[in-house]
Amino acid sequence: MLEENGSRSRVKDLEPPSPRSEWDEYRLVARDNQEEFYGNLSTITFTIRGIEVGAEKPFIIAGPCAVHSREQTLEIAKSVKEAGAEMLRGGAYKPRTSPYSFQGLGIEALEILAEACEITGLPIVTEVTDQGKVDEVGDYADVMQIGARNMQNFALLVQVGEYAAQHGKAVLLKTGPLPKLKEVLCAAEYLAVEYDRKGRIPKIILCERGINMNDGLMRNTPRPDFLTQLRRATYLPVIGDPSHSTGRRDLVREFGSEYLNAGANGLLIDVIRNNEEPYIDGVEVCDFKQGLPAAIFAGYMESIKPRTVKQK
Ligand code: PEP
Ligand code: MN
Repeated sequence: MLEENGSRSRVKDLEPPSPRSEWDEYRLVARDNQEEFYGNLSTITFTIRGIEVGAEKPFIIAGPCAVHSREQTLEIAKSVKEAGAEMLRGGAYKPRTSPYSFQGLGIEALEILAEACEITGLPIVTEVTDQGKVDEVGDYADVMQIGARNMQNFALLVQVGEYAAQHGKAVLLKTGPLPKLKEVLCAAEYLAVEYDRKGRIPKIILCERGINMNDGLMRNTPRPDFLTQLRRATYLPVIGDPSHSTGRRDLVREFGSEYLNAGANGLLIDVIRNNEEPYIDGVEVCDFKQGLPAAIFAGYMESIKPRTVKQK
């Protein structure tokens, strides 16, 4: 804009912000820093036990919230495999809000997951909750999950990143309880730095799991729009978790589809057995209210078969 005296206004004279400055703090994971990914919505692709991540078809991680027993886990593993899921989830170490809640079977659960993998061939996704367990969990996991509460546990990020890069494992990073976009991307960057140090491609998957706010209807609040922003900001695959974000089995399919509409590369879904009881061996089933019975999960999988992931 020209001023009365003919000179340009100060605002116009200022240098425009450098595009680099926007992603400099997460330069390894930024979409705009990679020629191949700039201006489109494609993602890095890699395989985990032969399963392709970042492909045109959304990939589905399914299984019990927590491993409660061998019988429960093997039955669910077989069901989700038959329904077409690509990976098996199951918590061995659980980050529970209350110290009185079931904390997971630990190493016993990891052994059960290993057996489930042997039977079904499904890669194992399981959470590592603290630094002292990185080697133990890493030994069994194909994908090491970092939970929402640990998204900014930087020491854990570094250690898991280092282990995963060293041993050819992938990491599933969940979005924090109330994260800013930059905070998620920088958390992913901590992991990417470790893969970069080892000269490996960053086998990192991000997972939108809702924010810890609700207006009474849901456990949390899903943010498919946040997933869309993440897809635009990074070339890493981003999946949605309609189970933990809604906390309600009657809403899982609807919000799963919302995530897919928003461009999700895949979904993470809690599955329970058909006619599952709320207790196993006297212990309350973890996140029972959000678990999708196996038959309903199979029906949902059938309905999303024709789906492809947005690449543009
Ligand atoms: C989970 O996936 O089992 C879990 C604990 O989720 P979040 O970290 O998203 O709460
Ligand atoms: Mn859970």
